[in-house]
Amino acid sequence: MKVRHLNCGTMRPFGGRLVTGNGPLFATAEMICHCLLVEADHGLVLVDTGYGTDDVRNPDASLTRSFRRLARPVLDEAETAVRQVERLGFRAGDVTDVVLTHLDLDHAGGLRDFPHARVHVLRSELEAARAARTSIERTRYPRAQWAHGPRWVTHDPQGDDWFGFTAVRELPGVPADVRLIPLAGHTVGHTGVAVRVGDGWLLHAGDAYFHHAEMHANPACPPGLRYMQARMETARGLRLANQDRLRELVREHGDRVTVFSAHDAVELRALQRQPVA
Ligand SMILES: [Zn+2]
Repeated sequence: MKVRHLNCGTMRPFGGRLVTGNGPLFATAEMICHCLLVEADHGLVLVDTGYGTDDVRNPDASLTRSFRRLARPVLDEAETAVRQVERLGFRAGDVTDVVLTHLDLDHAGGLRDFPHARVHVLRSELEAARAARTSIERTRYPRAQWAHGPRWVTHDPQGDDWFGFTAVRELPGVPADVRLIPLAGHTVGHTGVAVRVGDGWLLHAGDAYFHHAEMHANPACPPGLRYMQARMETARGLRLANQDRLRELVREHGDRVTVFSAHDAVELRALQRQPVA
């Protein structure tokens, strides 16, 4: 399967090296929304959507001012998944399935651009988004992004083993080479998405971690990103335990599995430099 690495939403938060780990302190940092476009036999599978054209045209409807002040999304329509799909010569309707790591606003904004696609998500995540009550929950799960009624397909962890992780293997309509690897903690129903490429695997770890150095043997994380992760977590113990397991995966199987976060520009650029497999 051909897999492309797309950035579907640059963000430029203040904080310089407190966020990126290097460079000046008083500068804007760069964060991205790492999405995958998978060419399967029957059509296209999009893993995460980043921001959508509606977020760009009418941000007040989905992105609160407090979020925009903090994350400072660039909101460039050319970066949306649908425009990138079109530039590659496909149509929006060719995307038959969207697989989401979770329903945070910077991952689900593009759902409205693919209204005919099946949308795969963990059941617990959809329930948490629908039940959002507190202001932080309502900010992270803006209803406007899915008020059009996506064709949800919800999943529960089934106990299939994937490198020692519990996995969801059967996603109806999606090749078995795409699997959900639940990684709760950032949100209730947060999941990684594994995609087989040749002899190896990519693991889109979503927001299980934010900075590439968190996967190093001696992990490090810039303080700004550590703060953001702690502020948005729903279960610290689970989140940190899953980071440990991901580090172990990289240590034990780094030759076969490439792990990356949704928001790290360094990881994205390294993967974009590789030829499309
Ligand atoms: Zn995110």
